[in-house]
Amino acid sequence: MKILISGAGIAGSAVAFWLTRAGHDVTVVDLSPTLRTGGQAVDFKGPTHRMVLDRMGLWEDIYELRTSAVDQHLVDADGRTRATIPHEFTGGDIEILRGDLGTLLFNCSAEAARWIFDDRIEALTPQTDHMGVRFRSGRCDSFDLVIGADGIHSGVRRLAFGPEHEHVQHLGYHYAVVGSGSLDHLRDSTGTDGWDTNGPGRRRGYWYNEPGRLATIGGPKAPDLYVFSGAPEAYERNDSDSQKQYISERYNGMGWRVPEMLARLEDAPDFYIDGINRVRMDRFYRNRVVLVGDSAYGNTLGGFGTGLAVVGAYVLAGELLTPGAGVMRALGNYDSIMRRYAKIARSGNAGPFLAPPSKLGIRLRDLSFSNRVLFKSMMKITDIFATNIQLPEYNSLTHA
Ligand SMILES: Cc1cc2nc3c(=O)[nH]c(=O)nc-3n(C[C@H](O)[C@H](O)[C@H](O)COP(=O)(O)OP(=O)(O)OC[C@H]3O[C@@H](n4cnc5c(N)ncnc54)[C@H](O)[C@@H]3O)c2cc1C
Repeated sequence: MKILISGAGIAGSAVAFWLTRAGHDVTVVDLSPTLRTGGQAVDFKGPTHRMVLDRMGLWEDIYELRTSAVDQHLVDADGRTRATIPHEFTGGDIEILRGDLGTLLFNCSAEAARWIFDDRIEALTPQTDHMGVRFRSGRCDSFDLVIGADGIHSGVRRLAFGPEHEHVQHLGYHYAVVGSGSLDHLRDSTGTDGWDTNGPGRRRGYWYNEPGRLATIGGPKAPDLYVFSGAPEAYERNDSDSQKQYISERYNGMGWRVPEMLARLEDAPDFYIDGINRVRMDRFYRNRVVLVGDSAYGNTLGGFGTGLAVVGAYVLAGELLTPGAGVMRALGNYDSIMRRYAKIARSGNAGPFLAPPSKLGIRLRDLSFSNRVLFKSMMKITDIFATNIQLPEYNSLTHA
């Protein structure tokens, strides 16, 4: 088949991985001028994620590139620890910088697919057995299938399913990541700790809350991370000055090391902000257009977006490559499998947990980490969401 993937992120590169191996003619288009390597560390947890990564033959590479385990300390304004979040809660079984994962996936099919940057789909026209596509560059072409892997603000979803506001629900919170990969600036400004004080290979991260706001410093998961309540239209999507300004206003007057973070924010080149958003879709496909990754399932910041994207890519490719399935039947099967599995993204919202709206809420949240029974139940729930799928074998993928 001749297939167009919109979005060279995690989901897009993962689908390209499988489809190029099966010999399909794959083009990937991304509006960014180069591969976007920003973002914090993302993680995988449980046997389902492991199985897919094993079948891609990537587990060892990810293991080599993994970040080191970081326990997060919930601190008060004076920096005293009130509770500790063990690294497995935020880092899963294995954690890797989003940029490292994206580059790894891209390299797997860098030669086999055609990658077009700095362009995007402008129009989709359904035809009897293919999809007509017009690109922003003016080029026109037709494809057997168009895959929208272009993230939470998907252009394909808008063109094929309707405007963003009909499908995307802002959940009242934003997150912003500043810096990624480099650890140097994270040293504790007091010079007393920051790393390796918690046993070999164990670094520390710090979380500080005031109602409706979380500020964290610490390690590859979140060099500097802000999670805060706020209206959806609070800043311009493509204007990083207005975004930084908004964060500075929201965090103005906050204690602990927030002034130090805000000073770093001012000239940070590596900066990413988005809302915590739920996506509602009756179906993940229409005609010969299908969505995978955040464009389909949303991103509620619960640590599931990347696992969902990689599993979704596997299921989509597996269904498409099942002999005799036919495209529309394959899309229907993909839809019903992933609809069940992506339930966490439809029901979750990590915002109020990360940045509780009241002082009492913050104390109760902290308790869930210091109380062993509560902590164990939270871990169990996240395990269930990560593994709640009967993953088909897809022998055709093994032979691809
Ligand atoms: C720069 C960046 C940083 C991120 N940082 C974090 C983070 O710190 N924490 C976190 O939990 N999640 C982060 N995410 C989201 C995370 O990558 C996803 O939740 C998850 O990995 C699923 O990936 P995805 O491929 O569906 O979407 P994404 O990883 O968002 O990839 C979407 C891709 O589509 C491209 N794109 C967007 N619109 C169009 C369009 N109209 N046409 C063509 N291409 C388009 C984008 O440039 C991007 O390359 C980040 C995403 C990006 C793009």
